[in-house]
Amino acid sequence: MIRNNRDIAPGNPYRRPKPTRHEIIHAEKFYLANEKGSYDAHPIPVYLKLCKEYLWVSETLSIPIPSITEWRLTKKGGCITFLDTIAGEELAFNFTKIGFLRFNRRRVEKFLDILAQHARECKQEQALTPNNETQEFRIIQCEKCGASPVHAITLNTYSSVGLAPIAFSSKLVPTRHVLCPDHISGETIRACLRTAAMGYWGLPGCIAAPCYVIQNLWALKKSGLADGQTVAICVLSSIVLPLAIIASVVVILINL
Ligand SMILES: [Zn+2]
Repeated sequence: MIRNNRDIAPGNPYRRPKPTRHEIIHAEKFYLANEKGSYDAHPIPVYLKLCKEYLWVSETLSIPIPSITEWRLTKKGGCITFLDTIAGEELAFNFTKIGFLRFNRRRVEKFLDILAQHARECKQEQALTPNNETQEFRIIQCEKCGASPVHAITLNTYSSVGLAPIAFSSKLVPTRHVLCPDHISGETIRACLRTAAMGYWGLPGCIAAPCYVIQNLWALKKSGLADGQTVAICVLSSIVLPLAIIASVVVILINL
């Protein structure tokens, strides 16, 4: 961590000086939002300032770029999740943009895109220079290989046996994974294959299972690491193939 005399709380990476005009990559006025993404009765403006090392929110909160684990659009705003190594927990920062009396999705989307791009560049830089000053934030490691930087992703495994009214006929297990770019595709494929193997037996299994496969792919897309090959493998093996088998069985049974 580069320390200088502008640091307002030396040693605390979550309280950094307000960046100067020259340091800012992108800045925009938003409003603090609650978990649901909407602002309370009196909207509190925040001027988010993205600079090279951190996202400056206020005098009391700066989010170091390497500590950001997830960024996403919510129903009415944006949500940035980051690991507070001091509190030892993942925290979420919600914000929204009010346009002409309504949520301005486009501006939030644009801001998150710029943030995502910058965070990815920072992570690539880190991977190339492992001993740089931001290393102290690399607390979370890939659960498969211990590498960092990592992406947090929730993957569903769905299993179903029998028909809907039968108790315990279906089971959904969403798992929060922390994975490096090398392992995120493999784990997504594995979750989809498990769903393909166990999720299509009966009803509503054969309707619900494809939805959970799509949810997994959506989560992968949100991590910014979705590639055509992984998506194709998951769609073919976990949606197209099982549905084709079910259709064939139905056709055979009808013709018997
Ligand atoms: Zn890994």
